[in-house]
Order: sequence, then C-alpha cells, then structure tokens
Amino acid sequence: KRRIGVLTSGGDAPGMNGAVRAVVRMALHSDCEAYAVYEGYEGLVNGGNMIRQMHWEDVRGWLSRGGTLIGSARCMSFRERAGRLRAAKNMVLRGIDALVVCGGDGSLTGADVFRAEWSGLLQELVSAGELTEEQIKPYSVLNIVGLVGSIDNDMSGTDATIGCYSSLTRICDAVDDVFDTAYSHQRGFVIEVMGRHCGWLALMSAISTGADWLFIPEIPPRDGWEDDMCASITKNRKERGKRRTIVIVAEGAQDRQLNKISSSTIKDILTQRLGLDTRTTVLGHTQRGGAACAYDRWLSTLQGVEAVRAVLDMTPTSPSPVITIRENKIMRTPLMEAVQATKDVTAKIHAKDFQAAMTLRDPEFKE
Ligand code: ADP
Repeated sequence: KRRIGVLTSGGDAPGMNGAVRAVVRMALHSDCEAYAVYEGYEGLVNGGNMIRQMHWEDVRGWLSRGGTLIGSARCMSFRERAGRLRAAKNMVLRGIDALVVCGGDGSLTGADVFRAEWSGLLQELVSAGELTEEQIKPYSVLNIVGLVGSIDNDMSGTDATIGCYSSLTRICDAVDDVFDTAYSHQRGFVIEVMGRHCGWLALMSAISTGADWLFIPEIPPRDGWEDDMCASITKNRKERGKRRTIVIVAEGAQDRQLNKISSSTIKDILTQRLGLDTRTTVLGHTQRGGAACAYDRWLSTLQGVEAVRAVLDMTPTSPSPVITIRENKIMRTPLMEAVQATKDVTAKIHAKDFQAAMTLRDPEFKE
C-alpha cells in the first residue's frame, strides 16, 4: 500500500485540522496508508514517534478545532541540507513517498527544495552507508502537494488561504466589541491586526466593520497622511456627530519612506493633535485561535481531498502542485509558480477596494 504523510508547518491557522482530517480519510478511502508527521518538519527530521500512522477514528471531531492538533514548528534544521538528509532517511525507513504539506510560502518552498534534492539525498545516504540501494529503489521520486494554511491570505494564485476567513471573523468580532466602548466614551481606538507583509486582514476587516481610517503595507499613504487622517476624523466627529473613531493598522504598515506606521504612532498623533482620548488594542494571537469558521471547514476539507487526488495523479516529471481555490473552484497550480508570484506582487489587494473602504468613511477622501 502507498503511504501518504501529512504535516502542518509555519504559523498555525484554523482549518489546518480539517485539512489533516480530509487527507487522512481520503488516503484511507483511496486504499493508501496515512501518516501524520508531528511538529512540522521537526517531526520529519527527528522521525521516531513523531511520525504516526493515522486511522479513520484518529481524526474524529477535528473539523472544527482551531490551531493544529498535530503541532507546527519553525524548524531550523530543515533549512540545512543535513536536516533534509535525516528527513529523507526517515521517510524511506517508514516507506512514505508522498507528503502533503499545509503551511505558508516558507513551508511550501521548503517542500519544493526537498523534492528537488530528493534523489541526491538518497544517493548520499547510500554512499554514507545509511541506506542500501535496495532500500531506496522504490522511492525514486518524492511526491509533494501543498495546501496553503495561513491566516494572512498572503499567497498568490488562490483566492483564500485556509484560516484567513476564521481570522477575519474573529477580528470583526473584536472590532465590534471595541466599537461599543468607543461609542460610549466617545473615544478613539487604534486596532492593530496581523498579516505580516500582507494587508488583506486589515483591509477586509476595515471594510467589514466600517472603520474610520486604515493603513496597509501595499498602499502606503501619501506624505502628510497625518494631516489627512486628522482632518477627516475631526470632520466626522465635529460636523457629522460621530462619537467613536476606529483606526485599523496592519502590523506591516509603512509610509512611502518605508518607515513603520505603528499603532502607538497613530495613537500619539490622535491624542496630541486632536486631544482625542485614544487607546490602542493589539489583537495579537486571539486572531489565530478558536474554531474554524464554516468557510475554512469546507475549504480545508475539499482541498485536503484534492491533495490526495493530486498525489495519486502525479507522474515523476510533473511539477509539485499546490491546491488553490479560484472563483469557488478547487484547483491545482504549480507550487513554485504560486510561491514566486507571491514574492513579486502585492497579491491580494485591489486599490479600488481600498478606495471604497476610505470613501465610505470620508466623502472627500483623495488618494
Ligand atoms: P510559513 O510556512 O508560514 O511561511 P516559515 O517561513 O517560518 O513559515 O517556514 C516554516 C518552516 O519551513 C521553516 O521553519 C523551515 O523549517 C521550513 N522552510 C522555510 N523556508 C525554507 C527553505 N527555503 N528551505 C528549506 N526549508 C524551509
């Protein structure tokens, strides 16, 4: 029987458990054996009981659970060839020749590096006397399939990453809660949201909550943004009778000179220039945790099933695919194409959406 391994790597995201569940059950359904690799690449490098065979019941109840139940880690040793050598040996010893990796672009890049080196790694293990020619014979190719798990929605080539809508939902709930207190006390709140270099969570949460001002890395504000922001907020409060002011800032936000725009900078401006009683709320890790929302449950399930299908369809020469979703269809895209495109562009942000978000807050907003 073929043995298919699954691991989760990089930052955890709601929906990863749904993906593992789907991979395990689809593998079993397809008459393969399923193995979970615990703690991301750490488990592959260390082997032993960090690679465990999974049965149908082992993933029962996993669909809605937040985080990742098989653990995730940032693994330094897998970045080195020596670590990947140990990982290759463990896979051969366990008879696993296909790996479904659910993680961000770092994890997927690592997976692709591993696949490209695979036959060289096996030859090296034979030369070093750690494996025999006989042992490596059945494992001439390593099949890798990627699933994008990331709350940031920072991968090109797919409309949504597993976890981003759960995180967006959580952010919206938190902003709604802050709205109530901001309204009551006529306060300003600056809310910092995650996303690393990507402003998708910030932009979508600002649109979804009707926040008053917004900073994202992809669209740095023009010089003098401090005046623009203060003028708009003053107008809304003084002339339009607005009681509360909410500013959302992405953790990666910058101005045009690439200076960081932090929540404390914005708070100081609002406090000092407008005399506005302003608080900052850094949402932090509450954005990652909790149950997966409905979207992430079905996305992770359908993509996990497709990942196993992709493993079974792969030929020695086909490039590693990543499972994507475009226009509501689950699809396959060459993995490195998606990773490369992500490095080149500001993947998910449409200037017109940003414009729309700002215009609804301030009729006179000019880019
Ligand atoms: P993410 O997958 O969320 O982007 P990281 O960039 O931290 O997160 O990557 C997760 C793990 O993937 C790393 O700790 C490392 O083990 C592995 N990895 C990332 N980039 C590479 C690479 N270029 N080569 C080998 N392994 C890598």
